[in-house]
This record gives sequence, C-alpha cells and structure tokens, in this order.
Amino acid sequence: MSLDVLSMEGEALNACLEEMGEKRFRGKQIISWLHGALAEDYDQMTNLSKALRARLSKEAPLMLPVKERVFSSQIDETQKYLFRLSDGQLVESVLMKHSYGYSACISSQAGCAMGCRFCASGIGGFVRDLTAGEMLGQVYAMQRDLFQRKERVSHIVVMGTGEPLLNLDNLLAFIRILSDEKGQRLSRRNMTVSTCGIVPGIERLSQEGLPITLALSLHAATQEKRKEIMPIAKKYPLEAVLAACQTYFERTGRRVTYEYAMMAGFNDSEKDARRLAALLGRGAHVNLIPLNAVKEHALSAPSAFVLERFAAILRREGVNATIRRSLGADIEGACGQLRRKYADDTYGTVRT
Ligand code: SF4
Repeated sequence: MSLDVLSMEGEALNACLEEMGEKRFRGKQIISWLHGALAEDYDQMTNLSKALRARLSKEAPLMLPVKERVFSSQIDETQKYLFRLSDGQLVESVLMKHSYGYSACISSQAGCAMGCRFCASGIGGFVRDLTAGEMLGQVYAMQRDLFQRKERVSHIVVMGTGEPLLNLDNLLAFIRILSDEKGQRLSRRNMTVSTCGIVPGIERLSQEGLPITLALSLHAATQEKRKEIMPIAKKYPLEAVLAACQTYFERTGRRVTYEYAMMAGFNDSEKDARRLAALLGRGAHVNLIPLNAVKEHALSAPSAFVLERFAAILRREGVNATIRRSLGADIEGACGQLRRKYADDTYGTVRT
C-alpha cells in the first residue's frame, strides 16, 4: 500500500522521508505545500528536486478527493459538493455562507452505521471511515474555489455523512493538521463536531481538551422517543449521553449545543417543547432544524407557525433557541441525499 502523505503530520512525515533516504526537512516542505499552499500535485513543489517529485508521485501518490459535481443553490449561496474518493466511494460536503463567514460541512465516513430514521446517509449502511487526508481534501477543494473569490473558509462543521466519534483518531489528526501553523491555521474555536451520542467517544474527546464545539444530535426529549428514531439510543441512553456532555463542558469549558430536527407530529408539540426545556435547563443552546424531508422516510418538517411556537416555549423557559435556516433546500440539502440521488440517477443503485 502506498503512503498516505496527505494524512501524515510533521514528525511522521519527516521520519518517513528519512527512511526513504531523503532529508528530514523535506517533510516540512511537503507539509507547507500540501496544507499551506494547498498544492494538488508534487510538480507544484518547486523546492523539491525533480527526482524526488517523481519518486513521491510513484511511491506516495496524493489521494485527494476528486470533485465529481458541484451544485449551486438558486435560493442562497450554498454549494453542495460531491466528491469521489480514490476507491470510488462518493461523499458529500456543503459550503455555506453566513453573516460571519463561510463554513464547510464535511463528511467523516462513507455511509453510516447509525441508521437514524430521518436521515438518508444511513440508508445504504456503513462503508468505511474516511482518512484525515480525505476529510482535509474536502475542505481544501472548497477553499481553492473560495480563493478565486478572495474568500476563505472560516468555520468547519463535521456534520455530514458519518458519525465522527467512531472515526476519532482520523478526526483528531484532521483537526490538528487544519489548525497547524504550517497549514490553514483554522481556529479550533471555529470547529464543531456533531455526534449522535457515542458516550466513549465524547469521553475521549473531553480528555483531549480541545476548544472545539460539540454538537449533540438530540432530536427527542425522552429516552423512549429517542429510541424510536435513533437506534444508537438503545446502546447509550439519554441520561448517560447528557452526563458525558456535562463532563465535556467541565473539562473543556466549551458549551455543548443541542441539535433538534423538527419532525411534524413526532417531536414538535408544546409538550415536547416543555419536556425539552426541563431536560436541558436554563442557559442551554438548542438549534431547531426543520427536517429536510427524505423521500425514503415518511417524516417531514412542521409549519413555520409550529416551529416558532416551539422556539417561543423554549425561550420562555430560559433556553437559547435558534431556528436554523434551511440552506440549499433546492439542492438536496439534507445529509446523504445528494450521494443517494446521484448514485441512483447515475448507476441505478447506490454504490456502497
Ligand atoms: S444523522 Fe448522522 S449519525 Fe444518524 S444516520 Fe445520519 S449521518 Fe449517521
């Protein structure tokens, strides 16, 4: 198997080059090219000899995700990317424009094993973890496009396909490389990682003490209801998940945000709102997300009136509730929809 240079951090790459009989400092140069200058080819690395460039191209080919399609929303400035990985897997990413800058939402796995009932990503099942380089490659492709407009990605959200805390080693390398001073120097404070509630993963992330935001995909205010839509709740009950989130806050000083996908007739009643407020308590931050309907599932978003009523109850109880704008709804905005649609349209079946 060839070297995965894009996923390697400084020391590991230096050591590798030394083993190849090259100078250690070449590692540093390659890191600057790949993660700072966002080079896509060894031939761009003009301070390496031609012989070394040729050798690396052969022995350590760069496995950057290839931009297969880019869909631009006609409603807002959202762009959805479909990437093909080196083994043919498709993954999705989204570039969103906010008042505070551009955020890149990336996938951490090809497919997902979690099987949440409202999500398209889990339908084809889990395929494999993404490497750190494949996660970085999604951000870099979007960043290269933004460079042309003299803009930058300022925020990262790991909320696309996959459960990031089940791919924690690669996720941590991704965060370190992305925030490294030789790379894009992206502030860890501007990074959000979402989880469906993997308790050991939250605990391990707490121990890392990174100042990133943890977002818990909550979606229901009781264990019984959560189990109905999120199979993982059977393994990690709500009480244990919330306790792990509390530990995360105590260890990192970073508040946990709670994601709540609003599903008509399932979790959008006044009673649900009061339960949610009682569960999380005053001062909690909840993002209410009108569900992006998935054709394979019967669930849909409630009306704007119901959404507002739900948010008002939370606020009255002292919870900070934000209704998320549904960005890029005209381009299959929900997690996993594009990958499925494209695979369906192109190949007749989902390629997993
Ligand atoms: S919501 Fe997230 S964890 Fe659940 S199936 Fe979809 S990608 Fe996986």
